[in-house]
Amino acid sequence: MTSPPPFLSFENVSKRFPDGTQALQNASFTVKAGEFCVILGPSGSGKSTLLRTVNGLVTGYEGTVRIEGVAVTPHTLKTMRLRTGMIYQQFNLVQRASVAHNVISGMLAATSTWRAMLGLFSEKDRTKVCELLATVGLQPEHLKRRVSQLSGGQQQRVGIARAFMNDPDLILADEPVASLDPKISRDIMSLLRKEARERNATVLCSLHQMDLAQEFADRVIAIRQGRIVYDGHPSNISRVIEASIYVGAGEEHKIEAREDQRPLALAHSV
Ligand code: ADP
Repeated sequence: MTSPPPFLSFENVSKRFPDGTQALQNASFTVKAGEFCVILGPSGSGKSTLLRTVNGLVTGYEGTVRIEGVAVTPHTLKTMRLRTGMIYQQFNLVQRASVAHNVISGMLAATSTWRAMLGLFSEKDRTKVCELLATVGLQPEHLKRRVSQLSGGQQQRVGIARAFMNDPDLILADEPVASLDPKISRDIMSLLRKEARERNATVLCSLHQMDLAQEFADRVIAIRQGRIVYDGHPSNISRVIEASIYVGAGEEHKIEAREDQRPLALAHSV
């Protein structure tokens, strides 16, 4: 009997932007259903580009991205997007619109354009907005408030509620706490993990902070200069591996590692 395909798979994904920047180089890994997988790496390492290949915001890459065995292509993209919720570093909320409007906009992909334009959302959808906002820790009085009147942490709570509005089974969170202070960051990461677990959603979350990855991830894929340099449990990240993620280019030779602790990039280069 053949085993089912992994929930998410990246097969030799490489991306070169038109200006020649090689953002990803042969990235290959799989993610299990329900896993909270952190893509860890410094700024500019290719995390965002990797995440964006999944929902078609980055195109023209080599290799294949699959969700449950089905390749993400222009033909399958619409269906893939319907099952995906996106959370952004800068929240990407409409600042002048109400909290309720922003959350309900998470339904737009599944709602016909004319209904959406006329604001004709069902009673069921409206009830769901209220429930989701309560779940993410906002009060009924926030519903009609403009997003611009909320703190950064509250805005990201709205972003999380919006991402779950469509009952996604995949959440793509692109540096969801990079604009928040450390205490609020931990609250938001806890909330994201709890909501994802309760709904059995798989999470692909990019972060640049090692401590948050170690605290919240089931699995870490570390990336540096577009290459995967570690793939495994967060507790197995040694100082050697940590150094290889953040070390400047050309300094690899300074790192000595035990065979079993060798980061993938180093292992490949010997
Ligand atoms: P991260 O999310 O880890 O900060 P990115 O995926 O945003 O990294 O970027 C990876 C590399 O690709 C960086 O060198 C960045 O400057 C470059 N890059 C990203 N988007 C573009 C683009 N549209 N055109 C050219 N280069 C880009």
